Amino acid sequence: MAGPRPAISEIPHPALAAWLTARGEPAFRAGQILAGAHRPTSASFDDLSDLPMSLRGALADAFEFSTIADTHVISGDRGLTAKAVHELADGQRIESVLMRYPARGRSSERTTICISSQAGCAVNCPFCATGQAGFGRQLTPGEIVDQVLHWHRPPWSALGDGSTGHYNIVFMGMGEPLNNADRVFAAVRLLNDPERLGIGARHITVSTSGVVPGMDRMIDELPQVNLAISLHATTDALRDELVPINRKWPVREVVAAGRRFAARTGRRVSLEYVMIDGVNDTDEQALGLAAHALGWLSHVNLIPLNPTPGSRWSGTPAAGIARFGALLRDRGIGVTVRDTRGRDIDAACGQLHAQLAGRSLRELRAVEVPA
Ligand code: SAH
Ligand code: SF4
Repeated sequence: MAGPRPAISEIPHPALAAWLTARGEPAFRAGQILAGAHRPTSASFDDLSDLPMSLRGALADAFEFSTIADTHVISGDRGLTAKAVHELADGQRIESVLMRYPARGRSSERTTICISSQAGCAVNCPFCATGQAGFGRQLTPGEIVDQVLHWHRPPWSALGDGSTGHYNIVFMGMGEPLNNADRVFAAVRLLNDPERLGIGARHITVSTSGVVPGMDRMIDELPQVNLAISLHATTDALRDELVPINRKWPVREVVAAGRRFAARTGRRVSLEYVMIDGVNDTDEQALGLAAHALGWLSHVNLIPLNPTPGSRWSGTPAAGIARFGALLRDRGIGVTVRDTRGRDIDAACGQLHAQLAGRSLRELRAVEVPA
């Protein structure tokens, strides 16, 4: 739980205004407080220097500035990737990752931040470190937003003032976001809020292992948020093994939900496909994938498996990925081969967390702030 005090990152404006009024403070200070709490220079309520000192103290007594109790950060990819393990008030640990993509040619610098939606995950995909660790609990909207705020605030202050729109948020950390849909949707609305970080829905992506009712809710409730489907196999026999939630919602239903999303929202859906050597990278799977992806607004992302410690599987070699990709392209499917960021710092889903289990973050902390 987030603790008895509400998080400033999830308190609704009217509730904050009511709290102020009850203290005899003007309600307009609610906007000032929210602006201050989301400034990249604010590390605590003390830094809200446009507020009277007594009010800063009262805020600290009444609200959590962050639901994250402690964080350990390590950098990799020569400073382009940074991965955080966050410890929450009850000792649960979650992960978020910051990835920078330097400006190249005509494209300007981009940053993507990958966040968790649950502590652990119950879906239990055998190639995923989070799945192997099992389910802890649901995250609150504040705990989801506070992962973004961690990178926004000192000492990182890596995301600018939030008005630039030059960064993206992906729900690709720990957890299955659509198994925590109410809180994830609430977090998305908080991230969108112009009084807070003001991140446009088009800069946010929800990745799902195939929770069909959740995808249908996205069509109605978050039609501007991007949808990525972790397909990873094109036959039920193989997908039952790789993405066990397939036993509930089989491939055909998952792809049909993707098609509905694309048709109703006009937005392109990503089909994520982790390439596992000798397992799901056969020509037969490529042709199956082409058949599922053809004829609607879809795009395939091929991702080499980042093997978890002790894994019986390895990633498909580059030549195999190229061959698989060519089979898709020959059939008119849009394909991107994604790089796996953070291999050198175990940034695949849940891995760093697994490595640090049982060690205190305070003891480990040696925060490297990128230059
Ligand atoms: N639960 C959601 C979102 C979190 S996982 C989902 O499964 O979509 C985000 C992505 O990371 C998924 O596409 C997942 O399949 C992928 N992933 C998990 N473990 C991985 C690994 N070891 N190597 C490469 N990708 C991995
Ligand atoms: Fe859960 Fe996604 Fe990992 Fe599967 S890949 S166990 S759905 S976090």
